[in-house]
Amino acid sequence: MGTFEVIAQHGNHEEILFCQDEKVGLKAIIAIHNTALGPALGGTRMWNYKTEEDALIDVLRLSKGMTYKAAAAGLNLGGGKAVIIGDPKTQKSEGLFRAFGHFVNSLNGKYITAEDVGTSVDDMEYIYMETPWVTGIPKDFGGSGDPSPYTAHGVLMGVKAAAHEKFGTDSLKGMRIAVQGLGNVGSHLVKYLHEEGAKVIVSDIDQARVKYCHDQFGVEVVSPDAILSVECDIQSPCALGAIVNDQTIGKFKCKAIAGGANNQLAEAKHGDQLRELGILYAPDYVVNAGGLMNVFVELEGYSPERAFEKTRKVYDNVKRVFQIAKRDNIATNIAADKSAEERLETIGRLKQRHPGNSNRAFTTLREVNNR
Ligand code: NAD
Repeated sequence: MGTFEVIAQHGNHEEILFCQDEKVGLKAIIAIHNTALGPALGGTRMWNYKTEEDALIDVLRLSKGMTYKAAAAGLNLGGGKAVIIGDPKTQKSEGLFRAFGHFVNSLNGKYITAEDVGTSVDDMEYIYMETPWVTGIPKDFGGSGDPSPYTAHGVLMGVKAAAHEKFGTDSLKGMRIAVQGLGNVGSHLVKYLHEEGAKVIVSDIDQARVKYCHDQFGVEVVSPDAILSVECDIQSPCALGAIVNDQTIGKFKCKAIAGGANNQLAEAKHGDQLRELGILYAPDYVVNAGGLMNVFVELEGYSPERAFEKTRKVYDNVKRVFQIAKRDNIATNIAADKSAEERLETIGRLKQRHPGNSNRAFTTLREVNNR
C-alpha cells in the first residue's frame, strides 16, 4: 500500500514528519494528529519494527490516541507521537537522539516529546540538549521524573468515580478491589487503596513484587490465572492490554472495571458486552491520564504538589463519561470518545476564533525555565 493511502486510512493528521540522518542511523516519524486544543504532546517510542509501514501505522494510531486522551483529560494539549525505527537495546547513541532532537526543534513547539516504550530519561536528556520541547527530563533540569505515582493516583480517582457510580459512595473502605500487575503503577495503587481501607487482592507473575505488597500491606494474593475471575467489587487491571476479550468476558465477577493498563478492551464490541453484563467500565485512557497531567505541569514549571492535585480531575472526567453514556444510552468506551470529541469541538472552535493560544504561553514559560 502507498504511504498516502496508509495515512488516509488512519485519520486526518495535521502533519507527519519523516526524519532521516544516515550518519547516526536515525529513521524516525513524528505524527501530529490534532493541535486544536494546544501543542501536540506524546512520547517517542523506539521499536524494532518489521517494516516501515508498521512504524507509520503505529505512530498514526498512537498520535490519534493522544488527541483523545488529552482532550478527555481536560488538558490544553493536542495529540502527537513519534517512533524511532531501531532496536533500543543495540542502536541507541547520543548522536541518534540529538539528531532526533533537531527534528523535534524544527517543529517549533507544535510537537512536544516525552519518554515511551524503548526510551528513557537519559535519552530525553540528549533530546533536551537540542530542543526545549521535551518533557520527562531529569529532575535536576526541572523535569517531573517518574510519572507512575501520579498515574496511580489518577487511577485511584477513577476507581472512586466507578465506586460512586455503582455503589453510591466513593469511600473504598471495606471494598474488595482486585489489582492485576504490581509494577510501577500497580504497586503505588495498592498503597493508595490500602490507605483508603480497601480489601485488596493482587496478582503478578513476578513473585518478588507479590511478596513486597503482601509484606507491606497484608494484601490477599491469587495466581495470575485467577485474578480476573476473582469475586470482588472492582477490578483494576494494571498490567496488560486486551484483558477484556472473547475468552475472559464471561469470567468477570466484579461490578466495575477501572484500572491503569492501556487498551483494556480487545475490541470496541467488548464495551457493549460489559454494559449488557451490568459491569461498569471506566475507560482506560480517561482513568490513566495522571501521567500525562504530570508532564503537562512540567511545561508550566514543575511542582509535584500541583501535579498531584491535578490528578484529582480524573474523578470528574470519569464521571462525565458515565453521564454521557447514560445521556446517549451508549457504552462507556464510546462515551469517552464522545467526551473528547465534544471538547475538541467546543474549545477547538473557540480557539480558532481567539487565536492567542496556550502554545505561546508554553513558549514563554519554557524560555523562562531555560534561562
Ligand atoms: P510495569 O512494567 O512496571 O508493570 C507491569 C506489571 O505487570 C509487572 O510487574 C509485570 O510482572 C506484571 N504482569 C505482566 N503480566 C502479568 C499477568 N499476566 N498477570 C499479572 N501481572 C502481570 O508497567 P507500568 O508502568 O506499571 O504500567 C502498567 C500499565 O499501565 C501498562 O499497560 C501501561 O501501558 C499503563 N500505563 C502506565 C503509565 C505509567 O505512568 N507508568 C501511564 C499510563 C498507562
